[in-house]
Amino acid sequence: MSHITPSRQQYLDIKAQYPDAIVLFRLGDFYETFDDDAQTAARELDLVLTSRPQGKNQRTPMAGVPYHAAEGYIARLIAKGYKVALCEQMSETPINGLMPREVVRVFTAGTVIEPGMLDAGRHNYLAAAIVDGDRVGLAYADITTGTFATTQFHGRRTLTEELARLNPAELLVSDSEHTLQDQARTVSHLPDWRFEEGNARQILLRHFGVASLDAFGCEQKSLATRAAGAVLYYLQETQMGRVGQMQRLATYSVEGYMALDVATRANLELTESLGGERKGSLLSVLDKTVTAMGSRLLREWVSRPLLDITQLNIRLDQVQHFHENALLRADLRATLKGLPDLERLTNRILSGKANPRDVENVKVALTAVPIISEQLAVSSEQLSSHQLPAPTHQSPISNLQSLISNLDPCTEVTDLINRAIPDDAPTNFNKMGVIRSGFSAELDGVMNSSAHAREWVAGLEPRERQRTGIASLKVGFNKVFGYYIEVTHANTSSVPGDYIRKQTLTNAERYITPELKEYETLILNAEERILEIERRVFTEVCQQVAAYAPRLLQTAQVIAELDVVAGLAEAAANQGYVRPSFTNDNTLHIVNGRHPVVEQSLRLERFVPNDVHMTEKERIQIITGPNMSGKSTYLRQTALIVLMAQIGSFVPADEAHIGLADRIFTRIGAHDELHAGRSTFMVEMVETAEILNHASHRSLLILDEIGRGTSTYDGLAIAWAIVEYLHNHPRLKPRTLFATHYHELVGLADLLPLVANYNVAVAEEGDKVLFLHHIVPGGADRSYGIHVAQLAGLPKDVVNRANELLHELEQHAPTTAVTPSRLSAGQQMALFPEASPLLKELAKLDVNSMSPLEAINKLYEWKRRYAET
Ligand code: ATP
Repeated sequence: MSHITPSRQQYLDIKAQYPDAIVLFRLGDFYETFDDDAQTAARELDLVLTSRPQGKNQRTPMAGVPYHAAEGYIARLIAKGYKVALCEQMSETPINGLMPREVVRVFTAGTVIEPGMLDAGRHNYLAAAIVDGDRVGLAYADITTGTFATTQFHGRRTLTEELARLNPAELLVSDSEHTLQDQARTVSHLPDWRFEEGNARQILLRHFGVASLDAFGCEQKSLATRAAGAVLYYLQETQMGRVGQMQRLATYSVEGYMALDVATRANLELTESLGGERKGSLLSVLDKTVTAMGSRLLREWVSRPLLDITQLNIRLDQVQHFHENALLRADLRATLKGLPDLERLTNRILSGKANPRDVENVKVALTAVPIISEQLAVSSEQLSSHQLPAPTHQSPISNLQSLISNLDPCTEVTDLINRAIPDDAPTNFNKMGVIRSGFSAELDGVMNSSAHAREWVAGLEPRERQRTGIASLKVGFNKVFGYYIEVTHANTSSVPGDYIRKQTLTNAERYITPELKEYETLILNAEERILEIERRVFTEVCQQVAAYAPRLLQTAQVIAELDVVAGLAEAAANQGYVRPSFTNDNTLHIVNGRHPVVEQSLRLERFVPNDVHMTEKERIQIITGPNMSGKSTYLRQTALIVLMAQIGSFVPADEAHIGLADRIFTRIGAHDELHAGRSTFMVEMVETAEILNHASHRSLLILDEIGRGTSTYDGLAIAWAIVEYLHNHPRLKPRTLFATHYHELVGLADLLPLVANYNVAVAEEGDKVLFLHHIVPGGADRSYGIHVAQLAGLPKDVVNRANELLHELEQHAPTTAVTPSRLSAGQQMALFPEASPLLKELAKLDVNSMSPLEAINKLYEWKRRYAET
């Protein structure tokens, strides 16, 4: 091994500590990668792969990027799922012939803080999951906002749902965990012992400086603690311990929110469309926020509907306030528009990575706070002097005021920044001018002493011109020679004796004088010291600002909430939404409901609104109707209206009274997963099984075309049996919209009391068919499939022949012989006889107090009554 150079050995040692990262090794003005890392970097970043000699006959592959452009390259590697360890030169001069080098930062997808690597409108979560049998611990953090939360629960299904909600940039699992590999964009492994309870607890206790985890609510929650410990460890590890911004840990319960499975999130196109774009999603029509903080919070709200009516009414009160006060809304939104991201800026300051521009932006954000308070205070005064209708719950104003009371202008911080940082501060520390004069006596002292030297140099040119009589004499500065006096060759004869020649150019000579050198040293030394002092003073200023972090973050939170509720009010006003009301029963009444996204995409046509009425008596609606008539739209809009209401938004309808839904389930069209590689029918059945197993009486089910993926008879039979099960199972009877093209299902309404039929109205004029998109009671009898085929442009011959065949089939096919509708109601109901009065009696019977004779008589009686039914 003797032929290895010291710097190669240094590299190998460092690389050994970061085997799973690409090590960027600082060499002069470049970050270099070597060996396999070089191959990877060259391939992924389109770099030229070169090589470097390593002793005799050996060359090491090498690929590098210029140091000043590193951020962009790192961002690209992170986006491709790599980890990057950044290894810096720690001094200007070598020690024992070797530059000291250290890894100063590890970049991973879930721990980046650089604004250029982040999406301002969404959180960037690092999550950790630990599975122990059926029990799961899940924690997540966003180092750019200080969010840190943990939970534990039963069941992998919930884990998948939570991960779908969070969509973490990176998921941490233990080395021995191999089943979560496809649950996040990047999955990183930690040694198993990092997830052990003792280690995890220690890391959390030490970081927060506490003796127990009680204050965070996870003292008794072993799995939640283990996951949170792993997250914190990884943050410390990647940020080299600097994770001051993680100031709180919240333990939450998944039961507090509406759970939404992965398919339902996707089907309802909550945050992105089925095509993977933001356009066409619910978020895209609701998001009228004007700050990054608001945009992030709205995404959280949309992803996490609530189950608490009081909490929902607080949100709705706030939205209503801005809905009713258009002027106030406009004023507030104008003030908020483009405000700097106080939340992420504060976290940058806490993490010690802020630059002067960041600090200045904190001030810009805070300066808006008194304006916001004033705007809101004026409006609520006006309102409270108004005669308000008697409030049905807490008044909108009091709910808004409690929000405003948390707006803190943090004047101490603005004062400090005003005194310390000039308005046009440079973004990096290589230039002077980071600290305002008058702020630091030490800095001003050095500035003053160098000011005299500067003045002296500034006045040198005119003085020397006068002394020498050379009118073209110039004083200049360059990095290599420092200050100089330049005289053209023609005038060199007039140069005084104290000039020392330093450099000859084609048409001039450059000189220095001993005095000039002295002043130069003064100036350059001062400059170095000024940069050093500015950096130090700046760090102190940041530390002082950091002390106000809780107040700054609280204000950022209020700004985000105001932005969200004012934005929801804006959407409601622009798009004609109304405030929904909630009940705790299991009903649903929507008058003239609309699909929030489809109604916006229609250009020539008007969107046809539809009602939904689901009572305790009518819970399952079978919706038949031609293809393309609007069944899916109707189903989805109903789910979206309920969901919008449960995030605290107004809804696209004339009226909406919503019995709170514990969950929304959707099973939509088999055709959507054609690309997924699994048999579409299998996917459909797996998802349906999940729904039947997890729905409750309080759920809302949207079932579109179940059974479509298999043969007609199988499909029909399965669809039929599913409706029966939903109807009869005591845990279920959920509100269900069931769209189908099996017209035979219409027969269920005669057999099952809670089932009703609806269809989409069609107008026929001669041989023309007009879809009215209007849902009316009753079942449809025709599917108009051939009509749709014709609209789609199928050749006329095919359409004509299809019509012929249809006619023939309708005449001869024995369809009635295969519909399960011939089963008697008795047979249907017998599957779940729990509704029988006999059973109720049985349940009530006190067997201990009966004599054997009474018992046998009861048995005879029941047998007789059963035979009569
Ligand atoms: P299929 O059975 O083929 O899946 P469908 O009955 O579910 O069709 P949708 O996909 O809901 O039909 O709607 C088809 C198109 O009809 C929509 O893309 C939309 O343009 C239009 N549409 C649906 N509902 C309405 C409505 N209420 N008002 C106006 N246009 C509508």
